[in-house]
Amino acid sequence: MRIVLLGAPGSGKGTQAKLMVEQLNIPHVSTGDLFRAAIAAKTPLGLAAKEVMDKGDLVSDDITLGMLKERITQADASAGFILDGFPRNLVQAEMLEGLLKELEMTLDHALLIQVDPDEVVARIAKRAEIEGRADDTEDVVRNRLNVYKEQTAPVGEFYKKQDIVTEILGKGSIEDVQERIQAVLRF
Ligand code: AMP
Repeated sequence: MRIVLLGAPGSGKGTQAKLMVEQLNIPHVSTGDLFRAAIAAKTPLGLAAKEVMDKGDLVSDDITLGMLKERITQADASAGFILDGFPRNLVQAEMLEGLLKELEMTLDHALLIQVDPDEVVARIAKRAEIEGRADDTEDVVRNRLNVYKEQTAPVGEFYKKQDIVTEILGKGSIEDVQERIQAVLRF
């Protein structure tokens, strides 16, 4: 099964994806995690991405797609994957279409996790305390939320036209949200 998780920063995509991995036995592919790993390993890709990420802007589409292609063509992703943080704009959505066509694959679901903007800010503030992510500071979070509104939200519309979007209420406990996701995937 091939799934795209959509939702604002702090909507719980990463948390939900980790639980989905246990149920579905397919890998969680987070472009943010891949970038953070490249930064930690001080690779050229990591060095190029760090400056952009620290500002809360998007890394270039070509770099991101190259990294994604390398990951989803690995053997463990042959039966499917859960994409988290990609596509982040309409260009990437088109690029993913092309890549999947080339690989003779299709997407099964785009799950859009809906959370109130106030809730998102509160969750990111909490994550900042726990994880200490460089891009979870107040100014950068504000920019990331703007980038989401302007560039990423239209991706939901893109998949709505393909009729593969299900909106998931992101309120309540982690388990509540997971149960809503599993209910959709059971169909
Ligand atoms: P995330 O962990 O998904 O919140 O991503 C953290 C940061 O990594 C973003 O603010 C971007 O700077 C970068 N990033 C992650 N995914 C993408 C993507 N698909 N395209 C461009 N930049 C990305």
